[in-house]
Amino acid sequence: MKVNIFWFRRDLRLEDNAGLYHALRAKKPVQCVFIFDKEILDKLPEDDARVNFIHQELTRLNEELVDLGACLKSYYGTPESAWKEIVKEHEVNDVFTNRDYEPYAKTRDEKIGAFLKKQGSELRTFKDHVIFESEEVRKADNLPYTVFTPYKRKWLAKMESEMKGKDSYFLSSYPSLKYKSQFHKDKKGYIIPLSKMGFTSSEIQIPSREVKRSLIKKYDEQRNFPAIDGTSRLGIHFRFGTISIREKARHALKLNATYLSELVWRDFYSQILDYFPHVIEGPFREKYKAIEWRADEKDYEAWKAGKTGYPLVDAGMRELNNTGHMHNRVRMVVASFLTKHLLLPWGWGEAYFAEKLLDFDLASNSGGWQWASGTGTDAAPYFRIFNPTSQLTKFDKDFKYVKKWVPEFGTDDYPEPIVDHKFARERCLAAYKQGLS
Ligand SMILES: Cc1cc2nc3c(=O)[nH]c(=O)nc-3n(C[C@H](O)[C@H](O)[C@H](O)COP(=O)(O)OP(=O)(O)OC[C@H]3O[C@@H](n4cnc5c(N)ncnc54)[C@H](O)[C@@H]3O)c2cc1C
Repeated sequence: MKVNIFWFRRDLRLEDNAGLYHALRAKKPVQCVFIFDKEILDKLPEDDARVNFIHQELTRLNEELVDLGACLKSYYGTPESAWKEIVKEHEVNDVFTNRDYEPYAKTRDEKIGAFLKKQGSELRTFKDHVIFESEEVRKADNLPYTVFTPYKRKWLAKMESEMKGKDSYFLSSYPSLKYKSQFHKDKKGYIIPLSKMGFTSSEIQIPSREVKRSLIKKYDEQRNFPAIDGTSRLGIHFRFGTISIREKARHALKLNATYLSELVWRDFYSQILDYFPHVIEGPFREKYKAIEWRADEKDYEAWKAGKTGYPLVDAGMRELNNTGHMHNRVRMVVASFLTKHLLLPWGWGEAYFAEKLLDFDLASNSGGWQWASGTGTDAAPYFRIFNPTSQLTKFDKDFKYVKKWVPEFGTDDYPEPIVDHKFARERCLAAYKQGLS
């Protein structure tokens, strides 16, 4: 029997899933698949919390499908080798999937699309991961925005006109499960055990996908204080699509404009990566290549371990090491400290975050690091250097957050600052000035 395949990637949910909805409406039975991609997995530590999370979510998806008389099949290998297996096992009509804007994913999809074409099938892709894709929010000259404020203005205007216009369903959920009878009835679902792929379990707890309305309502008042549970912690769920961006944007529209603005930042960085993929290899702004960074491994190790002698920096790094999360205000402080106080390459910090963050996202991470180091789009000017001590006084004045993560703070066991603030500031200004001259 000919089937359409739905290929899960960063969209691990059945309900309100654009590509899956279109697959189920395409009048052929739908078989769901997932590929554990060796090219990605081989680079990760064996107890990677994100791999554990994906595995747990796939197991859940398979259970949901089994309840509908269907199943999820998983494959392990390169995408090319997996697709060879899939087309051997199934008579494939078309393949449906949601678009991914990372350079690796785009190249992979081109290759798989070409392979499927040779087999007589089409790879049909849909927008699901963002509210607006790169070409949907453009300047009058059709070039992408590289500054956030005008981008956001256009984004909001477009959203308003979409909701008023012909497509008043814009932001509505895709009712995929209305067509649940279209899943291919097959009981041979299989989620490859983690151990077969060389992974072990992780101790790290995954934040809930449920967020209280009251938290979002107070988001603008509370989001800057790391000791308060004032942000949603939905990052990992947005990353792997275990929640729907449309649903959260609808809530944000009703509850809090500042929260909505954070979702606009997410689209902003996604379109930057889509249009300017060089940002993953070097600075967005070419001339920043000339800055001479220090290559001091000892300082890098102190930063990673949270032993710099700057309490807010140390608390942030220890929160990251212990939980896979770090509060946004503190991310800005530790990133500024690494690049400006220590004058270490922002790529080092970006790589460490990529390894540790549960919500690691190539577009937002690269955007955040380049913003903090002053090398990116819409960046903080290089001469605006966060003072980690005044940031502490402003955002954690009772040391509640610091004491939680740095219990020896205030005792003789707490280290002296590894670098003097005034000296570091002047060294940074001189290095940037020289690089940019
Ligand atoms: C150096 C640095 C690195 C970062 N790396 C990442 C990363 O790898 N992945 C990531 O999702 N975010 C990253 N951010 C942005 C931001 O810090 C996190 O999105 C946020 O802290 C996640 O916590 P939350 O889910 O509680 O967010 P909330 O404050 O509740 O915000 C809700 C959602 O909005 C989005 N969002 C919020 N702020 C931003 C932002 N500045 N840029 C893009 N999206 C945003 C995220 O999807 C987030 O989950 C980085 C910021 C900096 C300064």
